[in-house]
Amino acid sequence: MSLTREIKDFALDLGYHDAGVTTADPFPWYAEELQSRYSGYDYYIESPFKPIAGTDPRSLMPEARSLISVVYDYSREGFPPEFTGKIGRLYQARCHNQSSSRTNGARRQLFVDYLEKRGMKVILGPDINVPERLAAARAGVATYGRNNFAFSKDPGSFIALTAFTVNAELEYDSPTIEAPCPDGCRICIDACPTGALDAFRLEPKRCIAYNTFMTQDNFRGPYTTSHIPTEIREKMGSWIHGCDLCQEACPRNAPRLKALASFPASSFLQRLAQQFDLRKVLLLTDEYFETVLRPVMYNYIRHKRYFQRNAAIALGNSGDRSHVPYLAQALEDCDPLVRGYAAWGLGQLGGQDARTALEKARSVETDKKALQEIESAVAV
Ligand code: SF4
Ligand code: SF4
Repeated sequence: MSLTREIKDFALDLGYHDAGVTTADPFPWYAEELQSRYSGYDYYIESPFKPIAGTDPRSLMPEARSLISVVYDYSREGFPPEFTGKIGRLYQARCHNQSSSRTNGARRQLFVDYLEKRGMKVILGPDINVPERLAAARAGVATYGRNNFAFSKDPGSFIALTAFTVNAELEYDSPTIEAPCPDGCRICIDACPTGALDAFRLEPKRCIAYNTFMTQDNFRGPYTTSHIPTEIREKMGSWIHGCDLCQEACPRNAPRLKALASFPASSFLQRLAQQFDLRKVLLLTDEYFETVLRPVMYNYIRHKRYFQRNAAIALGNSGDRSHVPYLAQALEDCDPLVRGYAAWGLGQLGGQDARTALEKARSVETDKKALQEIESAVAV
């Protein structure tokens, strides 16, 4: 059996859905595309992940010869209804940049250990950010969709990709160059509430997912802030971490989505989901943050105030005035960011109780931005 076949079999044995190999040649088109859309991707281009350098793996590892792209299917277990429409499935599945002390991170580490034992030098993210979707397509294990996601047979776009850069010459697979979306299909583009999608292009700062977790002060230096534009807030619905709408609408995902409805969620997810309540996210305690939110949403949001802000938006979008007392309580929260977004949520829900809470807060608020939000909410 060839070394390449042995490597792929090991990946499959670890639980990956598929594995392919391509050269470590650069992806010049991707570097040009990122640079040409600098204002949309500045937070990423200037990040420590160095995505431009990652388009040429040899710039970070001169002896790089191959990229091994593995596909993880994160839709083999179900997802609890309590999280649907609130937390993206990718995050519920806990397969995105997980540490090696948890299952999905340990799987990645086991694969690295295996390659190193076979005498290879290996690097992967965050040390090198190879464009994962392009690497997967060139390695023959994924196709593109107009919604900007990579697709694999059976799981559709419910996959997580990882590219391992190695110094060994391996047998290269044929690329999948086609984008098998039906002619004229633009269901995903129409399903996006914020207009973030164009065919094969995403405007990240309009994407709900970006707005739920990248909008943190100084998260990516001066390129990110905690501010979410009003017109985006109104379209965020109940999402507090990620967004699945364009994937749910896609006919290429329909078979797996149908099957998912009968797959049970893991006991772990079910236990967390039973405790999940947007009101508790709004009035977040340290214990709830650590025991209910962080086990699933561990990778982006570092401070609980951002979950509270997102919950204020979600409750404000709910149209349910039974949430008013909770938002009114948040309006007295010690964190000015949360107070401002609680005011926005109250303005959205409206009614006498919301107005009373806002006017009371207006008379005592000392933070300039929170006061602006209160003034705007009173004017609604
Ligand atoms: S994830 Fe949501 S907001 Fe982002 S492009 Fe898809 S539908 Fe639009
Ligand atoms: S909704 Fe249609 S255009 Fe969009 S990714 Fe799916 S098949 Fe392609």
